[in-house]
Amino acid sequence: METLTPVQYWGLISIISTIGCVVVALGLVFGPLAFMVALTAGKQCPQCKFWVPKDATVCGHCTKEIK
Ligand SMILES: [Zn+2]
Repeated sequence: METLTPVQYWGLISIISTIGCVVVALGLVFGPLAFMVALTAGKQCPQCKFWVPKDATVCGHCTKEIK
């Protein structure tokens, strides 16, 4: 097995941390966005709190009627 020089080691660490930062940034951007889409595109069943499409009249989870 090849041993990494300190320069290669820190290069690897910086690449991994950069990828980590990008993943966290994407999560911060798309997390609330996905939450907003879920809020605007759906509604919550008053009976079982299951998220159903906005124009649904019957809950797909507990089959209760939704007004
Ligand atoms: Zn339900």
